[in-house]
Amino acid sequence: MILPCARLAALFAALLLAAAASGGAPAAHQIRVRIDPAAHRLDGHDIIRFDAARAASLLLSPRFRIESIAVDGRRISLPAKPDQGFQRIALPAARRIEIRWSGMLAALAQDLDHRQTLAYALPASASEGSFLPAGSGWYPMVEDALERYELELDLPAEQRGLVPGRLLAEEQSGGRYRARFEFRQPGEGIALMAGPYRIEERQLRTAAGSEVRLRTYFHPEIAGLAAGYLDSLASYLDLYERWIGAYPFSEFSVVSSPTPTGFGMPSLTYLGIDVLRLPFIRATSLGHEVLHNWWGNGVYPDYASGNWSEGLTNFMADYAYRERESAQAARAMRLAWLRDYAAMPPGDDAPLARFTSRTHGASQIVGYNKSAMLFFMLRDAIGTAAFDAGVREFWRRQRFRIASWSDLRGAFERASGQDLAGFFEQWLQRTGAPTVRIADAQAEPVAGGWRLRVSLAQGTPAYMLSVPLSVHTAGGDVTRRVDLSHERETAVLDLPGEPLSVALDPELRLLRRLAAAEAPPILRDAMLAQHPSLIVPTADAAVQAAAQALSARLLERPQAQRANASALLVAGLHADVDAWLAREGLAARPAALAATRGSAQVWTARADNKRIVVLVSARDAQALAALSAPLPHYGQQSYLVFEGPRMLERGTWPAQPQVWELRQPGAR
Ligand SMILES: [Zn+2]
Repeated sequence: MILPCARLAALFAALLLAAAASGGAPAAHQIRVRIDPAAHRLDGHDIIRFDAARAASLLLSPRFRIESIAVDGRRISLPAKPDQGFQRIALPAARRIEIRWSGMLAALAQDLDHRQTLAYALPASASEGSFLPAGSGWYPMVEDALERYELELDLPAEQRGLVPGRLLAEEQSGGRYRARFEFRQPGEGIALMAGPYRIEERQLRTAAGSEVRLRTYFHPEIAGLAAGYLDSLASYLDLYERWIGAYPFSEFSVVSSPTPTGFGMPSLTYLGIDVLRLPFIRATSLGHEVLHNWWGNGVYPDYASGNWSEGLTNFMADYAYRERESAQAARAMRLAWLRDYAAMPPGDDAPLARFTSRTHGASQIVGYNKSAMLFFMLRDAIGTAAFDAGVREFWRRQRFRIASWSDLRGAFERASGQDLAGFFEQWLQRTGAPTVRIADAQAEPVAGGWRLRVSLAQGTPAYMLSVPLSVHTAGGDVTRRVDLSHERETAVLDLPGEPLSVALDPELRLLRRLAAAEAPPILRDAMLAQHPSLIVPTADAAVQAAAQALSARLLERPQAQRANASALLVAGLHADVDAWLAREGLAARPAALAATRGSAQVWTARADNKRIVVLVSARDAQALAALSAPLPHYGQQSYLVFEGPRMLERGTWPAQPQVWELRQPGAR
């Protein structure tokens, strides 16, 4: 339900962009920080060094008071604190800056959901957990510089904590817990986590021969999950070392958060307690976060030319696990991507090169799914061996550097010996996706078999595509790829047996806009619609209120007038919804929903073959209100049955591939 993938750094892409553009020399921090979570207090001391003297600006959250600053040993007077925004301290050229600061951290807001947590970049603390995000100004960040650091963390004895990087030492003494960390590569900022953790540890010798310390920092109530997570970590590290190259850090930790969130950082992932309890997290999201240590935290995306790291990670983690499961599972994931893509209003689409980080539904569809589909098509085009060789070379060359889509393209071109400029250009720079259809097909017997002519058509300007066709013949199915680079082209296929029908890309190997029958309606069609409208076919005030609340949670955009609506959300009691369907002349409640009644049913339909209708039918106002929390998580479904907030059944309406039925020549 929650996609716990938000690379923390992506939130601060602007900072990194500035650093990349200015080419500022990296800063080396030596930080000592003491935190008392119960009192929300922080005391910090930092010595910042540069290889050569340079002028620097420090950024610090306005919640802290700077006690002192010395530049190359000379104390300097402090600028006045601004009324709002970060404190920005411009310093003269120096090689060494020493600064002390202290102040109060925000109280941890446990009621924030994941989306709010992403936006809530305040350093926050409590006994149950502290989270000081990179970019929140909890330590003096050097503007326009990548940062490396050594950090000593000082906590009350019952607390444990960490920052990304190598654990150098830890000790318990004088009623305090202290741990020292080091992060040697120039990185994108420091995040700090602490809590009443139980630590479990396993030492792993990897396939590449390096030692990796695996740890869980779990709250006591989920301590029992530690062994399973450590097992999974070991197998993911093994998978990606063999596939890409040596793991670039000396540790990997899974850290629990009291808030329902998920962040990936170098050498660790920070996930909500309730997220960690979900059984599928270990099977998918954990591997995704581990892989970000190569893509994102090992090679940094060049945000100015687009973030490639989510798509590549999605392809080599989430999607790769489906491929290992079965061909059907992999196809189902491609169908879900393409269906989501079809649900996106064209006005929301944007070139992949413009994607930086996930901000709303449409950016996820482009930045994660369209991008993963690009890598899938690339592998089809150059073959698995060249694809894997390209991935390994990209890693060898770009480790701990900022790399762009064109660096990736270069790696795949060298590995395959192919010119991929056109391929990357059309998928990265163009908005949208091709619409491909079979315009005509004719078969005739020839000496030794049959000749099939298939005319394919697409929109303007044309894409260069390699279109899979599956021909059903009397002697079995034959799959061929045909090139299509114009608006209309006819391919000639010679076949051993008589062709009976031909299907266009039935395995969904192309990124394209699916035809209506290929993309049966799902909830997301209404959720993302440009002009959705709510209809409540009853006067009952409680039902009206519950429907309004549901619509506010479900629909991304304010409601439109019904006359202009591109999608309708119809919410009411069973009898009212049935009566509304009859009045509108739409199909009655689907039989598939009759077997399990539950307290509420949700399904999609198409009105006038075009406009999407989502019907939400409940036993009473309370049952309708119970859907507000769970329903937004089921965007990829066509129908659902709930008992209260609990989902009992779900599914998608069957998709129909584009098939052209052939007849005997002369019969048409
Ligand atoms: Zn991710």
